[in-house]
Amino acid sequence: MSPILEVRGLRKSFPVAGRFGFGPVPAVHAIDGVSFTVAAGENFGLVGESGCGKSTVARCIVGLIPPDAGEIRVAGATVTGSRGRKAVGLHRSVQMVFQDPFASLNPRLTIGTTLAEPLVIAGGLSRAAVRARVAELLEAVGLPAAAAAKFPHEFSGGQRQRISIARALALRPPLIVADEPVSALDVSVQAQILLLLEALRAAHNLGILFISHDLGVVRNFCRRVAVMYLGRIVEEGPVERVFQAPRHPYTVALRDSSLPPDPSARDRLARIEGEMPSAIDPPKGCHFHPRCPHRMPVCALEAPAWAADAEGGVACHLHPPAPIAPSLRGT
Ligand code: SF4
Repeated sequence: MSPILEVRGLRKSFPVAGRFGFGPVPAVHAIDGVSFTVAAGENFGLVGESGCGKSTVARCIVGLIPPDAGEIRVAGATVTGSRGRKAVGLHRSVQMVFQDPFASLNPRLTIGTTLAEPLVIAGGLSRAAVRARVAELLEAVGLPAAAAAKFPHEFSGGQRQRISIARALALRPPLIVADEPVSALDVSVQAQILLLLEALRAAHNLGILFISHDLGVVRNFCRRVAVMYLGRIVEEGPVERVFQAPRHPYTVALRDSSLPPDPSARDRLARIEGEMPSAIDPPKGCHFHPRCPHRMPVCALEAPAWAADAEGGVACHLHPPAPIAPSLRGT
């Protein structure tokens, strides 16, 4: 499958506000060299604890914040730092669904106006065609055409998230970035929204970057997954492999942090010590080493190299990259 999204070596830091005095301004190192790809029509999960940098990755991809370094390509075109006309092109290629369906819709606009807005800005459609497209979008997300005349406060949380998804689809982008799209919803509504996203993915060959802290949701919804810790991807692969046979100690602990139905199994689970360190001064070497039960002296000194395989990889000194055969080395 050809990639619809390619992220290479993405870095982003935020200076700490409100600091006075001399010396360099400290910064929050939100993303520290993140790379991954999403294929056309693929649902790809990005998981990790709060503060690991996954939402910053999402905001860089959709152009809400510029990365400090690295490259983002959507549908083969470089979009890193898009401005002006290039930014309009980016909006046709990738759209975002936000976590909070209550805050992501303008309460003063009818749903019809909200859905028509991107179509009008993009231009090229008559008023009748815009109206027809709005009705088509509402139908696609399971809402009646009459919903166009209503305001956001007249809908439930699940219906508002359907409207947010319809707005994201308005310009027929090949890629959607969904940042915790179901975590603000009731469990029964979560399932409906996930089924809707899956149906839209299959019908339109949509690539979906699905960002979540909920491993159960990612396991059910995504085909592949990348696990983030303190700004770096530590493991990537097909969901079944990553959750059934994780290789990185953090992935093991993250998986085991959901309580099993059998209470007697709880003592056998891996636990994460302490809390995630500050991203202002992340630990040297492997960022996970202060909490890792398998840490070795080298872990505090050197960041582990990415050991790639056919379907992903892992960054841990327990799993070093395979040595390159002499015949494949350069001279
Ligand atoms: Fe643990 Fe070392 Fe692997 Fe980091 S590199 S996860 S500290 S074993």
